[in-house]
Amino acid sequence: MTNTAEVTDTNTDAGAPWTSDAWRTRPVAQAVDWPDEAQAQRALEQLRKLPPLIFAGEARALQSQLADVTRGAAFVLLAGDCAESFDEVSADRIRDQLKIILQMSLVLTHGAGLPVVKIGRMAGQLAKPRSAPTEIVNGVELQSLRGHLLNAENEDPDSRRLDPRRLVQGYHHSAIVLNLVRAFTSGGFADLREVHRWNQSFIAESPSGQRYEMLAAEIDRAVEFLHACGVRDDNDELSRTAFYTAHEALVLDYESGLTRREAATGEWYDCSAHLLWIGERTRALDGAHMDFVRGIRNPIGVKISDDCSPEELLQICTMLNPERIPGRLTLMIRMGARVIDRALPALVQAVVDAGHPVAWVSDPMHGNTRTTASGVKTRSFEDVSSEFLSFVRIVSEAGAWPGGIHLELTPDDVTECTGGSWLLDEDELGRNYTSLCDPRLNGRQGLDLAFLAAEALRD
Ligand code: PEP
Ligand code: MN
Repeated sequence: MTNTAEVTDTNTDAGAPWTSDAWRTRPVAQAVDWPDEAQAQRALEQLRKLPPLIFAGEARALQSQLADVTRGAAFVLLAGDCAESFDEVSADRIRDQLKIILQMSLVLTHGAGLPVVKIGRMAGQLAKPRSAPTEIVNGVELQSLRGHLLNAENEDPDSRRLDPRRLVQGYHHSAIVLNLVRAFTSGGFADLREVHRWNQSFIAESPSGQRYEMLAAEIDRAVEFLHACGVRDDNDELSRTAFYTAHEALVLDYESGLTRREAATGEWYDCSAHLLWIGERTRALDGAHMDFVRGIRNPIGVKISDDCSPEELLQICTMLNPERIPGRLTLMIRMGARVIDRALPALVQAVVDAGHPVAWVSDPMHGNTRTTASGVKTRSFEDVSSEFLSFVRIVSEAGAWPGGIHLELTPDDVTECTGGSWLLDEDELGRNYTSLCDPRLNGRQGLDLAFLAAEALRD
């Protein structure tokens, strides 16, 4: 792949040439102003020379699985940290993150009777949009934490300074994580004969963990039965699973630095992840982020809140998927449990009426963040599950398929969201709160949600 030539864009009605750097001429929301421009240029030069993290063919494979989601033949589970940390890269943590995603997928596959497309919010989820550029910490005004791709969380001005060398570090972080994800998912760990091993001890004790054990025993018997009947797994279907990565395409210096043109097709791919999404704060139609993603051929997601009108949503669909390719566009709905009933029906109806093929995915986390009386950012399991259930009902009523769920989830036994089958309450939030940014579900709460979602999809 090369990243030099221009390509004439067929994606826009204006027919303007698209390049991986054309976004620079547009307004950039959440812009990154490097304090040292020469140092930033050096980091970008380095990024442009580094090998791709993913290949175009893999992005196309994901797109075709997402095409199955658009026609109701698959469900997508996208989950991982709100913000990954450079300081938390360990084999155990990566393995445990995979374990919970595999457990939840098994529950969903079994419950909904459909294949589950597995996507990790990992190996690149390193930058955060912020509502304010600075924050007051212990009486001192500091630049906000913008994710380890840009700065660090320590409470001193030097740590908060934007450092372009972090772009290259972010690439290496992602390569390390992705390498192990690939090894685990193709090397036997995801084998259906290993389902019991995915149940971590702190999850196994919970009601959903015990329910999972029963399901795992059922799968064991089914596999044994197939073997006894002489069914052979010549293609190793039971031992491997396709696993993809995704993150928010927020820092366009990083994303465009890893964008390559595929020699065989002449098409551009952002090789930092399989799927990239645009956040709620950067989806302006004339903005830099939308311009960047319209030209890459990876499958694309867009976060949609109740601020989006049906007209705007149709413009987003037309701009990002003018050829109406199934699997190209995923709409990630994040409205809040109390808002979704009012805001979502008209949006789904507009897209259905216009005939745009989209994958409908619920992000029931980002519209449900609140701050407790003692100042802790949290989300309740009840709000998260209620938004998801409303999503399923509303999308189904419009004749479309509620095709997926997007979660902030950690394998660690954290106390960041309240509720779930272990009834974590507000007083317990301080016990183990480690998120760099938003509150995440712990593994028990993730599994609770998978059972609840599986039931809702079956109904
Ligand atoms: C996120 O997914 O972490 C995020 C910031 O989401 P949104 O753009 O929906 O606020
Ligand atoms: Mn978040």
